[in-house]
Amino acid sequence: MISKGVDVAIIGSGPAGLAAAIGAKEAGAEKVTILERAEQPGGLLHQCIHNGFGLTYFDEDLTGPEYARRLIEKAMDLKVDIELESMVIDLSPDKELVWSNKHGLRKLQPRAIILAMGCRERTRQQILIPGLNPSGIMTAGTAQRYVNCEGYIPGKEVVILGSGDVGMIMARRLTLEGVKVKAVVEILPYIGGLIRNEVQCLGDFNIPVYLSHTVTNIHGQQRVEGVTISRVDNNFEPIDGTEFRIDCDLLLTSVGLIPENELSLKAGVRLDPVTGGPIVNENMETNVSGIFAGGNVVHVNDLVDNVSFESEISGTRAAEYALGKTPPSVRRIQLKAGKNIRYVVPQSIDAGKEATIYMRVKEPAEKVKLDIGGIYSENLRVVKPSEMLKAKLTLDQLRKIKGGVSEIEVSCVKRSK
Ligand SMILES: Cc1cc2nc3c(=O)[nH]c(=O)nc-3n(C[C@H](O)[C@H](O)[C@H](O)COP(=O)(O)OP(=O)(O)OC[C@H]3O[C@@H](n4cnc5c(N)ncnc54)[C@H](O)[C@@H]3O)c2cc1C
Repeated sequence: MISKGVDVAIIGSGPAGLAAAIGAKEAGAEKVTILERAEQPGGLLHQCIHNGFGLTYFDEDLTGPEYARRLIEKAMDLKVDIELESMVIDLSPDKELVWSNKHGLRKLQPRAIILAMGCRERTRQQILIPGLNPSGIMTAGTAQRYVNCEGYIPGKEVVILGSGDVGMIMARRLTLEGVKVKAVVEILPYIGGLIRNEVQCLGDFNIPVYLSHTVTNIHGQQRVEGVTISRVDNNFEPIDGTEFRIDCDLLLTSVGLIPENELSLKAGVRLDPVTGGPIVNENMETNVSGIFAGGNVVHVNDLVDNVSFESEISGTRAAEYALGKTPPSVRRIQLKAGKNIRYVVPQSIDAGKEATIYMRVKEPAEKVKLDIGGIYSENLRVVKPSEMLKAKLTLDQLRKIKGGVSEIEVSCVKRSK
């Protein structure tokens, strides 16, 4: 039997799903249900026990679990139903969900759905590191879970491949636990994560960093015994003769996050080939009417605060959709990634609605001007691919878009002075 009484169903109870549920409730949706496959709500925040969360969303410096707890308590006060150990396994374009829990398979057809499934880590297999397959190779997120949630230290001497935020945070965390972090190895000529993590997690602990280098071999039969590191050329190809070995018993990979969109694809949701997440409009609605999305399932965010801000919008708009109160659209404007912009989210906006847009640059640059279709500009001292750019477009700015224009370009180019 298909249950039909739910206004908004949300898949995932991370900071995106919880903020979306709060947004939906506050916008008047009566029955809001979150389906979460894990045993507890909060998503990945539970394993992020360091501080630095909530500086803009809560105006406070919180740890990941503290941040999650705030959202969980608010959702519970608003009487959001949170179904735990409930994994959504199918989703159709007409918004029929199939989920499983300890009682078996269930079906639900809510009026609106919000995708908030987060992302997963790219693994060693996906980047094809040669060498044997001994134990002691894992993603930085797996090590984070072992150390912070399960109480295990996964090695004594570690090399970390990739300087994404999770990798840098684990370099500090493992150092504090007495593990020797022998190197962070990064294929790019610059650090892949936030500047604040570079300073606080690597610099403050004197952790050796090898930029423009990669791991080209893994040694050890049963257990990792060491890795070979090589310098790479401009095409990221290892340069012969530059190899050197570092002995270690643990290799962590921190080589990118992939939005979890298998369910989205089943529902016919179109994905952006650059972000790997659904193409959304200013309401965070996908191409499938009534299916919305928020958080890392849309694009990998560096700050959880932005995940919550963005997902609150998807909750509000999903509630309006479910209640038949979606404001009419004025004129659709596509946002095109121009010079030095890798992507823009949302990919389109409405000329008659204020919108916050998020962007990432392709290359680091200094003294640049961010320009959005001539209606918004901002001078920035430094930009990096790892630091997301955010711009709020007001109605006054949107009114400057000339009639008949259906696409504007976003660019980030060097200033003349
Ligand atoms: C391994 C890892 C470590 C991280 N560590 C840090 C860190 O140290 N510091 C930091 O600032 N940021 C960190 N981040 C980023 C941060 O966790 C995210 O920005 C934030 O959690 C994203 O929120 P979200 O709600 O979009 O996704 P998540 O927090 O990932 O939540 C998604 C939720 O959806 C659930 N779900 C997925 N599929 C289904 C399904 N089919 N059915 C039911 N439920 C489902 C998952 O169980 C999960 O609870 C990390 C990310 C990863 C992947």
